[in-house]
Amino acid sequence: MDKIDMYPHPDGGWVMACACGISELHKRDEKYWSLFDLRWLDNYRYRISCRSCGQSSDHAA
Ligand SMILES: [Zn+2]
Repeated sequence: MDKIDMYPHPDGGWVMACACGISELHKRDEKYWSLFDLRWLDNYRYRISCRSCGQSSDHAA
């Protein structure tokens, strides 16, 4: 299981939730996360880092 989960929100957009308890709702038209850092590793994979506890997990697009 990933330390940081990302899943679609029923009202639209995405939710990111870290194991430390931080979570953020991201609307479709928002480009940036304020509590998380999203960095692309290549064309298919990206890394999400939690700004609060510093944990990160890799995801495939
Ligand atoms: Zn965290």
